[in-house]
Amino acid sequence: MKKKILFLVIGCIFTVAALAVIQGYFIYNTYQLKAKEANLAINQELLKIETTGKLDTINKAWMRKTKKFLIDYEQGLVSKKDYEQLIAITADSLSLVMDKFIQQKGFFDEYDVSYINYVTEVTLSKPGMGTIDTLFTGKLKLFGNNTYNTPETQASQSRWNESTHDEECNPDPNATNFEVVTKRYYSISNWEKQVFIKMSGLLVFSVLLLTFVVLLFYFSIKNLITQKKIAEIKTDFINNITHEFQTPLAALDIAVTTLKKKEDELTAEQFNNSLAIIDRQNKRIQKLFGEVKEASLVSSDINTANAKHLGCEVINEITDDFAMLHPGISIRCKDDGATLHIDRFHLATILTNLLDNSVKYGATEVIVNLSNNKNATMVTVQDNGIGIPAAEQKAVFEKFYRVQKGNIHSTKGLGLGLYYVKQVIDAYKGNIWVEGAEGHGATFKFTIPK
Ligand code: ADP
Repeated sequence: MKKKILFLVIGCIFTVAALAVIQGYFIYNTYQLKAKEANLAINQELLKIETTGKLDTINKAWMRKTKKFLIDYEQGLVSKKDYEQLIAITADSLSLVMDKFIQQKGFFDEYDVSYINYVTEVTLSKPGMGTIDTLFTGKLKLFGNNTYNTPETQASQSRWNESTHDEECNPDPNATNFEVVTKRYYSISNWEKQVFIKMSGLLVFSVLLLTFVVLLFYFSIKNLITQKKIAEIKTDFINNITHEFQTPLAALDIAVTTLKKKEDELTAEQFNNSLAIIDRQNKRIQKLFGEVKEASLVSSDINTANAKHLGCEVINEITDDFAMLHPGISIRCKDDGATLHIDRFHLATILTNLLDNSVKYGATEVIVNLSNNKNATMVTVQDNGIGIPAAEQKAVFEKFYRVQKGNIHSTKGLGLGLYYVKQVIDAYKGNIWVEGAEGHGATFKFTIPK
């Protein structure tokens, strides 16, 4: 059974992991798709910008200056370096115009897009001679801003070819031609965020679905383990009760066989012994039945109406009665003047059960302590027996729970005593718990409200 549960747990973990991977894969694909969609939408908007007359107007401004510069350059009036300066001066004002235009038209909606136009190459050539000079190569900003400093993607490229001389009015076969290559880039600072926002519904749904599956597995396995535990407890209980009844029934059998002897064969001693055995075993069987009957009671069945304030002297009466039956054990009660608000019969039931256990589980000395707490009175029953492993200290109050599980009958019991004690204490709205380490005695503590 343990193996089966282990396989089930491994199977569930594997299924959840596989589901998570498949979901992750779908989410990743959707993310890629949405990212592509976003890029496509932005590219379309860029195309719109590039086909508006506004861009022509802006372009004309730097083109005019470039042409004039190249005429001056041809004449040796300016140097290559001056071109970069010239473009830098115009770039700022053109960028401003471009930014305003993009903002006014609201091209990119929810995306934070930067649009930048660069001059990447300016070359001079003569007919029949090819390129004679390169004025500039690199990346010289014409206009636009990478406001968010994010990686740039190239959108488009154009080539502008012209001559330094006005060909229509004054055609010159030796005129110098020039070519300016410009490249437009864009960068988006928040596309991941926007894509995530668009996917948020899917993400939330996926997480919820996965959580639901995990919870479903968790509760199913938990339920299975509980069922298994109950089945084990039931088997243990049946084994225990069979064992518990075996001894008195065997003793009764012997006693009855003795009594069945013919009158002349039966001595007075044998008769008295047999009667004593029947009496003892009858009491034992009744006690066992009492335990089973008590365990069917729950706290709400227990009547607390006869509660009185009882002090250490009542505890001493109960422990003295107990000590008489167990001469080898020393029980001491200490108090600080505190009283316990409880029915005497219930107090006796609790203490007798706890003391019975102390003796049963190896104690030779028990100290009972009664003390005042803030809103309750606390009773401590501390013994020097075998103690209870920390991991089982909570479970010992469960019905049928025994630390010695399975078919081990080194100590007799049905696992009902502490359950009933807890029901009684619950009826008084008190608490019970156990402390101490295995091998170092057990300390049961319970509180009853004042
Ligand atoms: P049982 O009939 O088995 O004694 P109880 O409900 O009284 O049933 O106790 C539950 C289990 O708690 C016991 O089986 C025992 O293992 C453990 N236990 C209870 N009291 C003590 C104690 N004083 N010292 C050590 N173990 C104890």
